[in-house]
Amino acid sequence: MSETDKSRLGAVRAVVSEDDYIRRMSDALRSGAKMLSEICPVCNSPLFEIRGELRCIRCDKPVVRVQEEDEVLVASTPLILTRLENAVTAKLDILTNILMGTNEPEELKQLSETIASLISLFHKSRELSEKLRREQTQT
Ligand SMILES: [Zn+2]
Repeated sequence: MSETDKSRLGAVRAVVSEDDYIRRMSDALRSGAKMLSEICPVCNSPLFEIRGELRCIRCDKPVVRVQEEDEVLVASTPLILTRLENAVTAKLDILTNILMGTNEPEELKQLSETIASLISLFHKSRELSEKLRREQTQT
């Protein structure tokens, strides 16, 4: 198929649009499709759940639900980070006690290295949850 054929086909599709769309939508509804509150990212038409698959009837294409998974991830991330920060804080406490009780140079070196990396982990976690918090308040 040549490029002109393709663009002609595209133009025909656009003309077919509205009537055809409504017909396909009622066909889908009759065959048990469910209209969802979500919209197609391409054409903003409501999406339909057809036999467990998410489809845009206007685009006549399956749609992958990405947004929702992102939201789930964003919602649980601050909790995970809080748990991480609590664990790091608890370990820092234990390590500080060991640090106070030792004068062994090799042990002091190991302890301070471990403490330093835990502290930077804590900072990274804080930064990340700050960033997530800012992103969430923006949307
Ligand atoms: Zn669409």
